[in-house]
Amino acid sequence: MQSMSESPMDPITQLIHHPYTPPPGFAAPQPGVFKASTVIFANVAAMRSRDWKSKSGYTYGLHGTPTTFLLEERLCALEGGLQCLLAPSGLAAIANVALALLKTGDEVLIPANAYGPNKALAEGELAAWGIGHQFYDAMNPADLAAKISARTRLVWLEAPGSVTMEFPDLPELVRLCQARGVTTALDNTWGAGLAFRPFDLDGDGSGRLAVDVSVHALTKYPSGGGDVLMGSVITRSETLHRQLKLCHMRLGLGVGANDVEAVLRSLPGIALRYRAHDAAARELARWCEEQPQISQVLHPALPGSPGHTDWRQLCASMPRGVAEGGAEGAAAGLFSIIVAPRFTAAQVDAFCDALRLFKLGYSWGGPMSLAVPYDLASMRPSWPSQVARGTLVRFSVGLEAVADLRNDLAQALLAALPA
Ligand SMILES: *Cc1c(COP(=O)(O)O)cnc(C)c1O
Repeated sequence: MQSMSESPMDPITQLIHHPYTPPPGFAAPQPGVFKASTVIFANVAAMRSRDWKSKSGYTYGLHGTPTTFLLEERLCALEGGLQCLLAPSGLAAIANVALALLKTGDEVLIPANAYGPNKALAEGELAAWGIGHQFYDAMNPADLAAKISARTRLVWLEAPGSVTMEFPDLPELVRLCQARGVTTALDNTWGAGLAFRPFDLDGDGSGRLAVDVSVHALTKYPSGGGDVLMGSVITRSETLHRQLKLCHMRLGLGVGANDVEAVLRSLPGIALRYRAHDAAARELARWCEEQPQISQVLHPALPGSPGHTDWRQLCASMPRGVAEGGAEGAAAGLFSIIVAPRFTAAQVDAFCDALRLFKLGYSWGGPMSLAVPYDLASMRPSWPSQVARGTLVRFSVGLEAVADLRNDLAQALLAALPA
């Protein structure tokens, strides 16, 4: 770069401005990782003319690097979208959508069984800023229809619901919103782009029946390690994407290159992992159905579970090689049990404490199986009619051998909940 014939660079300066560049043409299975807050421009004209909103170049780390662009494009391929934004957590992605699309006087409708912190955002910051909210029963499309008003600007969807795992008639809910011209945002963390296609809900490839926004907690299956927090916001509308992106920039939402690298490393195996989590969870869920201490098992792929028919309807045509031989429809590795009401909540706590392989912890999608006891009464406006009374325990099934997990559940039942 600089000839500097008279005064050679000090070695200290060379540590920062070394003239050597490695030869081009390096290729390897994993992409290189680009890390930057500062991005260097060739000259002032380039600096002045660069448009941070387009993906034609680079301006600042927050607005994207080759590494973040790469993950965005791969996630679009996974979910069937066209544009993607990355956020530092799944919850930050949810907040990005709410803050971009809602203003004072608007109202947002959220399923009563939605991911808890989404509801807390509505009850906290959104309410304080004069943005209204109502919770609707996702298992009753008529309830959603009745709650949509002239103020409704956004309807959240989630399939299945958090913790209680009821699978709604998602195409019908979207149809209702489309007919009223209301924007829909799906929390697609459970489906992960594998169980169903959020931008092709009637499965004819036309994209006519589609959510407007798909949010994904990459923290779960895309990361797959229990060690990364990240979220994505995917759309197919350039106008909507631009609105989300402007807000994303103003909020300063960014992700670290090392975390993006971890997700890029895990993503190629997501379908295999999803299938393995699914198969193990179904086997354990069926085993739980036979245990006298357990009065209900909540897993949308089990016949008799709330929303099973709707799950089958949407997820039966497993897209793109997720299908396991013989199994109909894909599902995540999550299920909940309702412990028979003759056992106290303290006894259920003791059952959870007695588990050895299932660890106590939030989140899911990693190799380690997890359990969480929930006090459902404190989480919902009323007890869901499809759910039996009793204490609920939610399991996230990891990648351990199923027989070991079954033995763990059996020994903990025996120790804490005598039949
Ligand atoms: C975990 C989760 C989130 C939030 O993801 P974080 O990265 O933990 O913030 C959102 N929605 C659902 C359904 C989740 O399971």
